[in-house]
Amino acid sequence: MLVVGSGPAGATIAFLLSRAGFDVFLVDKAVFPRSKPCGGLLTYKTLKLVERIFGFGLSELVISGVVERSTVRFQVFFKGYPLGLFHSECPFFFVDRSRYDDFFRLRAIDVGARFLGAALRRVDNNRHMASTTLGCIKYGVLVGADGIGSIVRKQVFGEKPYKYGVCLECKGKSFSVPALFLGDVPRGYSWAFPNGSVGSIAMNRGGNVVSAFNRLSGLCFSRPKGWSVSFGSTVKRHAVDSVFLVGDAGFFSDGLVAEGIYYAHRTAELAAMAIADSREPESVYERYLRKEVYPRIRLLKGISMFVYEFQLFFPLSVKVKLLGNFSDILTRIVGCV
Ligand SMILES: Cc1cc2nc3c(=O)[nH]c(=O)nc-3n(C[C@H](O)[C@H](O)[C@H](O)COP(=O)(O)OP(=O)(O)OC[C@H]3O[C@@H](n4cnc5c(N)ncnc54)[C@H](O)[C@@H]3O)c2cc1C
Repeated sequence: MLVVGSGPAGATIAFLLSRAGFDVFLVDKAVFPRSKPCGGLLTYKTLKLVERIFGFGLSELVISGVVERSTVRFQVFFKGYPLGLFHSECPFFFVDRSRYDDFFRLRAIDVGARFLGAALRRVDNNRHMASTTLGCIKYGVLVGADGIGSIVRKQVFGEKPYKYGVCLECKGKSFSVPALFLGDVPRGYSWAFPNGSVGSIAMNRGGNVVSAFNRLSGLCFSRPKGWSVSFGSTVKRHAVDSVFLVGDAGFFSDGLVAEGIYYAHRTAELAAMAIADSREPESVYERYLRKEVYPRIRLLKGISMFVYEFQLFFPLSVKVKLLGNFSDILTRIVGCV
């Protein structure tokens, strides 16, 4: 089988299926370790998932330099005004994406996946043939783990996601306590994290991302990069004729904070289970998604309407009280489970 893309999604499915005895080719156009615009925030539930899939706990990930920091506190600002210091029941972790992604790519190679540094150019799914910069590869199963601009999604599924989000990120000053800035971007937020990631993000191609980001750009040490994000929208189909979409390629991320790493690992795990255990893996994968992933994305999208709309319409005093009262529940839903 052929897995295109070796981010968290591709590395996870390559790891699981190689370990299950499949002959896996893992193809990526980047030279590893490669960087990836990302806040690098890892929720507790992601850490638990990674531990279950790969067998590495927090201490091993810290020793390997994959996890850099953790925190249970965060600050929230509204239009520059500090709303306070909040506490999360489950810790948040911060990773360097170049080390994180390379670590899991190497684990897939350890269990037998063959890595090829090449870019996918075209897919002919009638002939089960993928053409890459290093030649053609015949596959039985193809997994599109090639990120938000997925060629597999465009060429095999032909689907355009109905909504994109946008974000800008730079590497800059590291804050000791992570900070979230609300109120500068409608349906979005800005952040400054302890790993030096500074950025702004908005749903629906939010027009004010640039001006929101400019307010923080004094914190940047590197040139900002712009990127598309799914931010709670998705495509209709994720499996057809032995082709599967996982992670960002399938437009999986939540609609509240645009967390994507969790969904990359989890959708890859679900696709691997469907491929390894079932005679109709396409419909089984879709069933797993309908049962677990779509409801979760929809729940967080629903909450986001409340968070982002209420941010615009309620007076500050009400906002401070509501955020204080609900921060426990919100951080538990996003981070713990
Ligand atoms: C600015 C920003 C901040 C973010 N912050 C966070 C955060 O703090 N926490 C969080 O959970 N999520 C965050 N996300 C989302 C998260 O980065 C993604 O959801 C996650 O990287 C998805 O993993 P993936 O494996 O699906 O795709 P990627 O990590 O994008 O990996 C795709 C891989 O495919 C390769 N590829 C692409 N095209 C081809 C091709 N044609 N041929 C061969 N290889 C190809 C690429 O080189 C890449 O290595 C953020 C996203 C952005 C843009």
